[in-house]
Amino acid sequence: MEIKNMYRELGISDKVVDFGEEILDSLKTRFDEVDKMAEFNQLKVIKAMQKNRVSTECFNSSTGYGYDDVGRDTLEKVYADTFKGEDALVRPQITCGTHALALALMSNLRPGQELFSPVGKPYDTLEEVIGIRPSKGSLAEYGITYAQSDFLPDGSFDFDDIRKKINDRTALVTIQRSRGYAARRSLKIEEIAELISFIRSVKPDVHIMVDNCYGEFTDEKEPLEVGADLIVGSLIKNPGGGLAPIGGYLCGKKEMIENASYRLTSPGLGKEVGASLNMMLSFYQGFYLAPVVTAAAEKTAIFASACYEKLGFNVSPKKEEKRTDIIESVDLNDRAKMIAFCRGIQKAGAVDSFVTPEPWDMPGYDDQVIMADGSFVQGSSIELSADGPLREPYRIFFQGSLTWPQGKLGILSSIQALVDEGLLTL
Ligand SMILES: *Cc1c(COP(=O)(O)O)cnc(C)c1O
Repeated sequence: MEIKNMYRELGISDKVVDFGEEILDSLKTRFDEVDKMAEFNQLKVIKAMQKNRVSTECFNSSTGYGYDDVGRDTLEKVYADTFKGEDALVRPQITCGTHALALALMSNLRPGQELFSPVGKPYDTLEEVIGIRPSKGSLAEYGITYAQSDFLPDGSFDFDDIRKKINDRTALVTIQRSRGYAARRSLKIEEIAELISFIRSVKPDVHIMVDNCYGEFTDEKEPLEVGADLIVGSLIKNPGGGLAPIGGYLCGKKEMIENASYRLTSPGLGKEVGASLNMMLSFYQGFYLAPVVTAAAEKTAIFASACYEKLGFNVSPKKEEKRTDIIESVDLNDRAKMIAFCRGIQKAGAVDSFVTPEPWDMPGYDDQVIMADGSFVQGSSIELSADGPLREPYRIFFQGSLTWPQGKLGILSSIQALVDEGLLTL
């Protein structure tokens, strides 16, 4: 095959391609496991679509109030059946993951109640939602307080502290599945199960939600199947399958979804309004593709983990570790390497491949940030993307790729960039 020629034409040397092939030989079993997971989850989605009698009629669009939108209402049933919830809210009016999470929190907490995180500080953008960083419209402004338990130094749950912090006012517990961009580890479904059962032993009736961003379809079970009441996520990550151009979802207990619907639209209106605005085809088709797209992203992450570990860098998670999200981090230990890595990723994309990522002073961050993001959907992180703050240990976080060949090219291109800059020898 002329594949090496193709790579050469894309700027990847034979040496880098050979290095990649050698790594790939050791990943066959791992990739088989990922394919099996995709198969299982693909069947799960198809089953939910069949059960709810999805038809082309569902892809029609509504405007205005959007009353009786069959496509929208059926899609919410498909999500609910797939993720094993009683109900779901899946809307283009939910603008992003942060919005979906804010909606879940603000609609399911009342003044005087307390939100509790047993897994340390939540995702950056939630600090302003909660009011950890003072902000207009935060939960704190409405008299909703916040408490948290941190992981123990060895990364395990601090059960003693969790027991102490859960009190009469604790009404909602929030568990973040993926590490996001923090130094902590991502939580596997078994660990979420253990944590939930402990929390229930302390306070049986407390509501428990899981920030499921980046986690969907990486495991056989989703958090609702191990005792969570609500899961929340973004459609420009895993469940949108790369096709959804916007959106967020909530899935779980009927009452909690109802609360969220009255907050998203209006008391009295709830789920009855909300036009689907030509989004339904991409929402359905994206959800249908999501298990295999997530698998492509996982293969890319595993490949990168294996390559960069072999090259002597500290990676997380390791290639052999069971995954629970699509994020991989590599400690590049050097500013120039981090910049070169991002430029390599950017160069390999189908969109904006001619753009050169530069470090910039992003509002709200102490250090400069660099990002590679040549995506079809702006900011979509189920597409191949990388970013991180330019500070020790120069840790790059990257995730996504709609297809495995694209992901492979991206990682090879990042290695090539390091070689070309004289920062690495193979
Ligand atoms: C991406 C993400 C969010 C926020 O999503 P946005 O769409 O960027 O607002 C929240 N939590 C986690 C764990 C995430 O990965």
